[in-house]
Amino acid sequence: MLSELVKNELKRIVGTANAAFAREELLCYSYDATNTLYPPDAVVFVKSAEEVSLILKMANSEGFPVIPRGAGSGFSGGSLPVEGGVVISTERMNGIIEIDTENLTAVVEPGVVLWEFQQEVEKKGLFYPPDPSSLRFSTLGGNIAECAGGPRAVKYGVTKDYVLGLEVVLPTGEIINTGVRTAKGVVGYDLTKLMVGSEGTLGVVTKATLKLVPLPEATRTLLAVFPDLKDAATAVSGIIKAKVIPSTLELIDGVSLKCVEEYAKAGLPEAEAVLLIEVDGSREGVVKDSEVVERICMEYGAQSVKSATGKDEVRDLWKARRAISASLFRVKPNKINEDVVVPRASIPELIGGVREIADRLNLTIACFGHAGDGNIHVNVMYDKTNPCEAKAAEDAVTEVFKLTVELKGTISGEHGVGVSKARYLSLELKPEAIEAMKRIKAAFDPNGILNPGKIFPKKAAEEGAYMVGAEAASGVPATGL
Ligand SMILES: Cc1cc2nc3c(=O)[nH]c(=O)nc-3n(C[C@H](O)[C@H](O)[C@H](O)COP(=O)(O)OP(=O)(O)OC[C@H]3O[C@@H](n4cnc5c(N)ncnc54)[C@H](O)[C@@H]3O)c2cc1C
Repeated sequence: MLSELVKNELKRIVGTANAAFAREELLCYSYDATNTLYPPDAVVFVKSAEEVSLILKMANSEGFPVIPRGAGSGFSGGSLPVEGGVVISTERMNGIIEIDTENLTAVVEPGVVLWEFQQEVEKKGLFYPPDPSSLRFSTLGGNIAECAGGPRAVKYGVTKDYVLGLEVVLPTGEIINTGVRTAKGVVGYDLTKLMVGSEGTLGVVTKATLKLVPLPEATRTLLAVFPDLKDAATAVSGIIKAKVIPSTLELIDGVSLKCVEEYAKAGLPEAEAVLLIEVDGSREGVVKDSEVVERICMEYGAQSVKSATGKDEVRDLWKARRAISASLFRVKPNKINEDVVVPRASIPELIGGVREIADRLNLTIACFGHAGDGNIHVNVMYDKTNPCEAKAAEDAVTEVFKLTVELKGTISGEHGVGVSKARYLSLELKPEAIEAMKRIKAAFDPNGILNPGKIFPKKAAEEGAYMVGAEAASGVPATGL
């Protein structure tokens, strides 16, 4: 609960029109894509680093939590006010300050929606590759805090590869600049890299300098249909071994295909698996690379490989790909969506292991995702009103994580730890590494006011606040995403 004094001070800092305290307004900022509900005590719509600084200084002196929030599309509970407090929404801090076509950089505010930024950049013949499937609504601030990645990571990398420098307000209120506007820079510790992916626990990003690259001359999209899921998974390494790095290399299994086709009607085939592959570069290079990709897919057991003709077909294929997550609720009302990553060559083993876990625990587990970089979205479908099934789903997640770590992978490639994966941290990290991370957090945030209960949850967030994995037990039915 905030005192009247704090509420009045918040209104003074951001202006009355930019501060919300009414229950119905707070409700809109109490959830993310995990469908978990934690209402904040206030929401403020900031417009400058100075406002953020004043709020954080007051949070330290008055002792209330502050939670940065972009679009609230996170899959791990990062923007949830699990201990109440003040949500800092960046949605009104959404200016593209500069696109520098000579130095191939851009300066942006954190609330800019990724898609809108990409459109502006592409108008100038430039390219900002990070492409999480949430690109139509997620913000650059949220992308930076989660180090978001997408299909193009296989060739172009993820958000951290494009952040040159940041303006950040530290949890104690100081405004600092990290990084450089140049291609190189090694002065002091790399605070930019530390901030990227820190899930809003080490500072609030108020400005970012991003790297741009030239827009590729040509792109071609291919759909390879496989009667066997493992063959499709094996073909992924086959393509890379043939020295072609596609700009996207997505695997979609039969369960996901069926669901998304019924939902999006994109003309996808009925099959055990497909690979959705895109190659880009010069016109000649694209023709050559797609010939290699087609040949390799056929060698690894594809029944057909089709090249998309025209922009509409390409758009429909990607629309369908991005709709998979939502379409899976046709199978069961609840879902745990994990985003494990294994070395590319281990994908067939991972997929085989997940199939075995699903059969043994009598669950439907849909697999799809960025196979090109070893990142598979493992979606455990269940009905939480059935306690046996809910327990089986939780067991399945633990087994999938253990398998991933055994295969020398990581339990999250994109979604972060937030609250949903905090309990699994020690599966992957040694206690000494977790301790070192906690010391970094304490050095930046001695009073623990910025986004508490994330990554290293406090008791309150651990006990009964969520049910399993990325699913909720807040009494609010899980729907939608
Ligand atoms: C349908 C769907 C598909 C998705 N696909 C992908 C995908 O392909 N790849 C992927 O990586 N993710 C994906 N996501 C997850 C999510 O969209 C990303 O994590 C995204 O980067 C979150 O952005 P946001 O603006 O919604 O941030 P929020 O959800 O609002 O916040 C996420 C985290 O960032 C912090 N944060 C937000 N803004 C700031 C700031 N200015 N300063 C400091 N911290 C801040 C928050 O505190 C929180 O910890 C998907 C989500 C959905 C719903």
